[in-house]
Amino acid sequence: MTIRVGVVGGGQLARMMIPAAQALGVEIRVLAESDEASAGLAATVVGDYTDWETLSFFAQEVDVLTFDHEHVPTHLLERLVADGVVVRPGPHALVCAQDKSLMRERLAGLDVPLPAWAVAEDPGDVERFLAQHDGVAVAKTPRGGYDGKGVRVVSTPKDVDDWLASGPILLEQKVEFVRELAQLVARRPQGDSVSFPVVETLQKDGVCAEVVAPAPDQSSEIIAEAARIGRVIAEALDVTGVLAVEMFDTPSGQLLVNELAMRPHNSGHVFTEAGVTSQFEAHLRAVLDWPLGDTSLRQPWAVMVNLFGDAGNERIHAALDYSPQIRPHAYGKHPRPGRKAGHLVATGDDLEQLKTLVRGASEAGRQQ
Ligand code: ADP
Repeated sequence: MTIRVGVVGGGQLARMMIPAAQALGVEIRVLAESDEASAGLAATVVGDYTDWETLSFFAQEVDVLTFDHEHVPTHLLERLVADGVVVRPGPHALVCAQDKSLMRERLAGLDVPLPAWAVAEDPGDVERFLAQHDGVAVAKTPRGGYDGKGVRVVSTPKDVDDWLASGPILLEQKVEFVRELAQLVARRPQGDSVSFPVVETLQKDGVCAEVVAPAPDQSSEIIAEAARIGRVIAEALDVTGVLAVEMFDTPSGQLLVNELAMRPHNSGHVFTEAGVTSQFEAHLRAVLDWPLGDTSLRQPWAVMVNLFGDAGNERIHAALDYSPQIRPHAYGKHPRPGRKAGHLVATGDDLEQLKTLVRGASEAGRQQ
């Protein structure tokens, strides 16, 4: 019988797992939030993943359960595991991608460099942290943040009055980084793992806008350190599937871990064109406990630019018209300002030419 993978969440990450599942010959099913979900191309159940009946019914029909997002409540996943469902990554790992404070606590015991951090429960805690860090800090809501929502630069406890009213928050040293990097690792349940080349990510207003693979101007030490950090975390937290570790590259050359995702990640979209194995295929192979494949690049450089707002037929057509080198990915979403609607990738030998090309193509056909 054909193996069935169930994906909770019907966003673009689930959508892009579909061709990888087809190539592997496994069946993919999606538990989506609405019948207009990006991943609605696959066999789809529409339902609420926080509802036990819906989730457990969906899970009983698949051989392995994995995720497009990390929002499924931990106690529900633990119940599924107790019922014999194969959940990858498991709830014990996934919780560290759900809760940034817990993630900091778990990483603090490992040999991985972190920014200074503290959990603040009241204005006095914020005051003390600010006093220790030149009067400035980055505050984060432990849960539910994404794309920079739930992240604020603060200089007085008043800046986080509203957040503190609903519970403890995470405070971090404001890191003066030279750039942001992301390391992807794919790990099988029995422990084998592979590392993708470390990439550079460019954020605009807290949202990933552009990715370059491999990260330019990097020393062999940085490459090795990024891969080491990824491996240490994947092993220590017992991650199965793809783990993305977002990192700050600091002026001293030290890398500091920012945050984790345990699923395919925006920073890894370049590997669909640029890698021998895409991150989506690597994720499926890993959660299936199959051989992980080759993560090396097929081209010297790859650049990805996100399309925000709209990636409808006209915009994609205009991007393709701009250059035959452009590889399109539209997520099939209704246009909405600021929404990640698709991305474009180009690969080749000349990094500067590729950047100009992909940026130009992303502007072509954009609705003003
Ligand atoms: P999200 O979950 O919304 O992606 P992140 O924790 O990754 O939130 O933060 C979003 C962006 O905010 C980061 O990519 C980085 O540019 C900036 N940022 C986050 N934490 C810090 C920090 N401690 N110091 C400096 N900048 C930070």
